[in-house]
Amino acid sequence: SEDRLISSTRRVEDVDAALRPKSLAEFIGQQAARENLRIFIEAAKGRGEALDHVLFFGPPGLGKTTLAQIVAREMGVGFRATSGPVIAKSGDLAALLTNLDEGDVLFVDEIHRLNPAVEEVLYPAMEDRALDLMIGEGPSARSVRIDLPPFTLVGATTRQGLLTTPLRDRFGIPVRLQFYTVDELELVVRRAARLLDLAITSDGAVEIARRSRGTPRIAGRLLRRVRDFANVAGAPAVDAKVADAALTRLEVDHLGLDLMDRRYLMMIADIYRGGPVGVETLAAGLSEARDTIEEVIEPYLIQLGLIARTARGRCLNGPGWKHLGLNPPSNVQD
Ligand code: ADP
Repeated sequence: SEDRLISSTRRVEDVDAALRPKSLAEFIGQQAARENLRIFIEAAKGRGEALDHVLFFGPPGLGKTTLAQIVAREMGVGFRATSGPVIAKSGDLAALLTNLDEGDVLFVDEIHRLNPAVEEVLYPAMEDRALDLMIGEGPSARSVRIDLPPFTLVGATTRQGLLTTPLRDRFGIPVRLQFYTVDELELVVRRAARLLDLAITSDGAVEIARRSRGTPRIAGRLLRRVRDFANVAGAPAVDAKVADAALTRLEVDHLGLDLMDRRYLMMIADIYRGGPVGVETLAAGLSEARDTIEEVIEPYLIQLGLIARTARGRCLNGPGWKHLGLNPPSNVQD
């Protein structure tokens, strides 16, 4: 739904662009990923080669697009961006690939949504840097192979498992992005405040960080909304009190959960007595897409230990009951 603070990766928003770090050094958190990328980039540059294909996977808003841009910048090559659902026909992909300059990064967001015919074209492109095209029709049709310049495909997806095996196997550098710690998000908030020219105290930054669902994109959004409240209230700086008042009015609770998260938890608690309940049933009950539930809502609730995904369905854990202020049925342990 549109009013949700966490939206999908689908559109790269201008408001995000202003806050994007531009180098690996400027990028906060994801330390393991950053260190590995630095080595692979340095090695590829040293050999004068294009970087091997990279797959970023993890929940929306963790920095996949940002890192893709950083990879291009650190490699000193061009950056082209598209997304899986946008490439309708194999010809569209062929046009994109033949227009790349040597070494370019081609970023494909939501790469798990490529149509299978398009994906077929991608395999030889990734593996042999070649394009197999059919010329003509009927008995005179023949296939010609076109060489492509060396390039780096950078794919992004919410879960690695959404990719077909042949596609997944063609990425030499798979990188999993994790939710950010409160300390890391505090740095994200302070940096964004600096860029927005907004005065913030350290307890104000921590308050927003704690309520950002482990996600820099949400930290940036919440900071902007808190700024609105602070401006209108004439507060000289965002401190914990100002932040808390604003976030409470936005119905973001102390764990950073919003209305949709709580509706989700309440449905399992109230209607299914803590579960197990299947994701399709929850999707229908909440009028939400199953994808949104699995890729946006659940990962953070699982990370917090509020729910569990089991073979028989979703269950509310002890801390989930507690967060709702309810007593679990006697068979649920803390
Ligand atoms: P994704 O592609 O994973 O959905 P983005 O790369 O679009 O996420 O990042 C979303 C927003 O969060 C952007 O505004 C970006 O500037 C910010 N952001 C992401 N990662 C970081 C980070 N490590 N440090 C600071 N800001 C970040």
